[in-house]
Amino acid sequence: MTSIWQRIRDRGRRRDRMCIEIVELVTDYLEGSLSETDRSRVEEHLSGCDGCTNYVEQMRTTIAIVGRVQVEDLSEAAKAELLAAFRGWARN
Ligand SMILES: [Zn+2]
Repeated sequence: MTSIWQRIRDRGRRRDRMCIEIVELVTDYLEGSLSETDRSRVEEHLSGCDGCTNYVEQMRTTIAIVGRVQVEDLSEAAKAELLAAFRGWARN
């Protein structure tokens, strides 16, 4: 079984920093409150990163179900997994 985080890791290190940024930006992105610049950076990254695309889709679904979501409330586990992935990259 391959988690989305393993797939992010498998895509290579050059995307890792933006993957972290996606976690921070996703709620603003979904609410349409990002600046034009950030929004295009997010969309450019999503076009090439299946892991983040899945993450954004999960967030979109969650927000549709429970309403507005604070990134602090929802993404602790996701952040922890991303940080674990980071440590995995650092070891490689
Ligand atoms: Zn990504």
